[in-house]
Amino acid sequence: MPNTSPSLAPQTAIAAFPAFEIVPGALSRGLILVADHARNALPQAYGTLGLPQAELCRHIAYDIGVEGVLRALCGFLGVAGIFAGFSRLLIDPNRGIQDPTLIMQLSDGAVVPGNVGMGMAERQHRIDTYYTPYHRALSGLIDEAERLGVRPVLCSIHSFTPFWKGVARPWHAGVLWDGDDRFARPLMAALEAEKDLVVGDNEPYAGGLAGDSMNAHGTQRGLAHALIEIRQDLIADAAGQLAWAERLSRILPHVLKEIAA
Ligand SMILES: [Zn+2]
Repeated sequence: MPNTSPSLAPQTAIAAFPAFEIVPGALSRGLILVADHARNALPQAYGTLGLPQAELCRHIAYDIGVEGVLRALCGFLGVAGIFAGFSRLLIDPNRGIQDPTLIMQLSDGAVVPGNVGMGMAERQHRIDTYYTPYHRALSGLIDEAERLGVRPVLCSIHSFTPFWKGVARPWHAGVLWDGDDRFARPLMAALEAEKDLVVGDNEPYAGGLAGDSMNAHGTQRGLAHALIEIRQDLIADAAGQLAWAERLSRILPHVLKEIAA
């Protein structure tokens, strides 16, 4: 684990490990796709954060299937997307900086040795090197859209485990939202109209965590936004990811029209 202060962080290490990736697309289309938890990657210096390799393949490290859905959906719709290049175990980009779960020491039963007893300098290093560049890049995409005269809708994509503490979760997908239902309501209605889906309204989690990504970029900028959670077993392989991207590419243009109206 690097012990360097932010100003001493080697530039090569930063360059070698991208904090984010932007999937190019037309910002003029008025939709930006966001995935905070798409990757389970860790910079080399951190190894596995002291975890057995298998733990990095679990949901504690990332949202299984989301990167594939986002890439395919960007392609189908011709819209831009962005995802974080690092595992949420390194630092969780879907948390406010003051949130006590920003860097987890214990996640779903797994102690994360590389995070236990971490000092303030290391915490700041992760904020400066990974967290902030990702959020700055997302802000930059929104700024660029606004320069084109577009107020983009933000669609955040996550995935959830089929079981939690031994109990099966009945939803195929859930829509998380807070005070602003401009995007969430028509999105939920469109998903429910699919007939073959059980859709959660603020399930399996409630939206509206202060300082999370949609709060920081959507609520605080007054942009219509929602977070869609897809059950992981449905998008665990490429066929499932493609099927969900196709489904969302059918639905979203109608939803966007409703928001605009
Ligand atoms: Zn997530």
